[in-house]
Amino acid sequence: MDRRSFLAGAGALWLPSMAHAEAPLAPEPFGLGVASGHPQATSVVLWTRLMAADPSAALGGPIPVQWTIAEDERLRNVVRSGDAVAEARWGHSLHVEVEGLRPNRPYWYRFVVRGKPSPVGRTRTAPDPREHVTSLAFAFASCQQYEQGHFSALRHIAEEPLNAVLFVGDYIYDISWGRELVRRHGTGRPTTLFEFRDRYALYKSDADLQAAHAAHPWIVTWDDHEVTDDYTGDISPADPDPERFLAQRVAAYQAFWEHMPLPSTMQPRGLSMRLYDRYRFGDLAELHVLDNRQYRSHHACRATLTRGKLLRGCEERLDPTRTMLGAEQERWFADGMRRASARWNLIAQQTLMAEADRGQDGQHSYWADGWDGYPAARRRLLGTVAASPVRDTLVLGGDVHSFWAADLVCGDSVVATEFVGGSITSQGPAEARVNTLLSRNPHLRYGRTGVNGYGLVVLEPKGAEVAFRTVRSAKEIGSPMGTLERFSVESGRPGVQRA
Ligand code: FE
Ligand code: CA
Repeated sequence: MDRRSFLAGAGALWLPSMAHAEAPLAPEPFGLGVASGHPQATSVVLWTRLMAADPSAALGGPIPVQWTIAEDERLRNVVRSGDAVAEARWGHSLHVEVEGLRPNRPYWYRFVVRGKPSPVGRTRTAPDPREHVTSLAFAFASCQQYEQGHFSALRHIAEEPLNAVLFVGDYIYDISWGRELVRRHGTGRPTTLFEFRDRYALYKSDADLQAAHAAHPWIVTWDDHEVTDDYTGDISPADPDPERFLAQRVAAYQAFWEHMPLPSTMQPRGLSMRLYDRYRFGDLAELHVLDNRQYRSHHACRATLTRGKLLRGCEERLDPTRTMLGAEQERWFADGMRRASARWNLIAQQTLMAEADRGQDGQHSYWADGWDGYPAARRRLLGTVAASPVRDTLVLGGDVHSFWAADLVCGDSVVATEFVGGSITSQGPAEARVNTLLSRNPHLRYGRTGVNGYGLVVLEPKGAEVAFRTVRSAKEIGSPMGTLERFSVESGRPGVQRA
C-alpha cells in the first residue's frame, strides 16, 4: 500500500464523504502489521486491523478472521487457534485475548483473512508471579513524530532481546511542526474518528514501527498528542469549545484503543478509557503503568500562561487539591505500592518526574504541563513510593524529547531513581536549556538533548543497568545505533550511578 500516493491523490484534505463508501479488502489486508501486548503469565493480546482496498473508504460488515499461536516460528506446534470477527464499529481492528499459555516463553502468531495470511509476529508471556527470575529487559520509548524523522530507532528495538517494550506516550502526533522534516502527515489536525484512524494508519504503515511491534509485546500508555497538544480534561489549547473538544477526545481514545494491543477491559466507555494497570514479572519486578493525562487538573494559572507554559510565582501551582492521576488512580497506585512484593517496582509514566526549576537570577520557573505543574501530587506519589515495603523503585518516562537520569527526592532522602528515554524522532529542546536545568537542579544527574533513541533497562536482583540507546540521525533511514551512556542502580541504594 502506498500511502503517500494515496494522500497525494486525495489532496491535503479529509473529505467527510469518504468515510461512507464501502470497499473490498486491500490486496494486503494486513498492511498495518500485527502486534501483541498486555503480557500476563498465561495470556497475551494479539492485534491487527484490516485495511480496505481504498484506505479512504470503510470496509463492510463483520469480517471473520482466523488466528493461530504456536511455540515455534514456523507455526508447526500450534497451541491455540480460533476465529475472531473484525467489526466496522471498531474500525475492523482485532484484539484477540489468548489464554492458556505457558509463562515466560516466546510464542509466534498469525492471522488469516479470506485465505490471506498476515506476517508472523513474535510475542512473550510474563514469568509466573511465583517464579524466581534472575533477569528482565525492557525498552522504554516515546515521542515518534512521523514528519521529524524515520523510525530507525524502532528497527533497533525490534532487534533487542526484550521481555516487552514500554511505550510511554506520543505514539502519534496531532500537529505538524519542526525542522528538516523528512516526510509529511499530508493532512491537518485530526478531530474525528475517521481522521484519527487515518493518522494511526499512516504511522502504522511504517515498516520499522511494524517490525518493533512484530518482535515484542508492547505495554502502552499515552500522553497528550494522541488527542491534542497539552490538553487537560475538557480543555484543548486548540479549541475553545469544551463540548466539541470532548467529542474529539472520545474519538481519539477510541482510535487509540483500536490501534493498540489492549484487552477489552480497556475499551473506552463513555468519556473515559481505563489505561493504567499493573503487570507482574515473576518475583523480580512489578510494573505500574500510569496515566498522567486523562484525569489531571487543568494547568495552574491558566489565564496567564503563555506559549512556553512557564510558571513564575503561581500560588495555584502549590494547591494540594491539584491532581495528576485523579483520586481513583492515586488510591489504586497507593494500594499497589503498599502491597508490592517483587524485588523491584517499575513505574512507567509519561514525563520527567523530578523537579526541574528552569528559572534564573534567583527566580523560580516551572513548566506547567509537567510534574512541576502538580508538585503536591508528586509529593504524594513519592511519599507512597517511600512507604512501599519494596525499597527499589525505578521511574521510567519520556515526553521531554531528551535523555535524563535523576534522583527522586522525598524530604531529605532519595527514594527512587528516574530515567527518561529520549524520543524516537521528536526534536528536543535547545542545549542551553538542558544546561540551565542541570546547573540549577543538582538531583538531575544527567541530561542530553539533540539525539534520538530510547532507554533500555536490564533488571537483576542485585541491581539495574540502564543504557541510553541512540541512532546516528533520525533523519536517515536505517541509521546505525550506538550507546550514548550507561547507568546503574544498586539494589537497596536508590540513586543514579555511572556504570
Ligand atoms: Fe512528545
Ligand atoms: Ca507529550
